[in-house]
Amino acid sequence: MNHYTCPNCSVHLNVDGRLVLAIKTSDGRHGVVLMSDTLGDYNVHHHPSLNLQKGEKTNFYCPSCKGSLDYQKDKDMVRIFMQTEDGEEHTIIFSAIYGDQATFQISEERSKSYGEMAHKFLDPEWYLKDD
Ligand SMILES: [Zn+2]
Repeated sequence: MNHYTCPNCSVHLNVDGRLVLAIKTSDGRHGVVLMSDTLGDYNVHHHPSLNLQKGEKTNFYCPSCKGSLDYQKDKDMVRIFMQTEDGEEHTIIFSAIYGDQATFQISEERSKSYGEMAHKFLDPEWYLKDD
């Protein structure tokens, strides 16, 4: 299995096949979302009281340290780290806009993208600009 971690505190973010993340909307609604830890699977579970609307921008936070998971170079994206079973380290970038299906798996040598919306973010060299 893959291990997902917070870039701020390194806590593991995946439990039982789901990423556990805290979110907040621009008008102050906040809660917890569960996302599949399988790349390319866009099922998101959340309490109905969150009332997320398609196209709505959300901010993601680590549920442990409460640090922001915003991707510094694009505030519409979220960044977390992933380590595969064989020890490979990746940076995962995904859209912070509800219903936008875009996930990037970034490693040093290449990028793989999942999701039908991914092409709209594509800049062939952008991942080389990451620190
Ligand atoms: Zn954290």
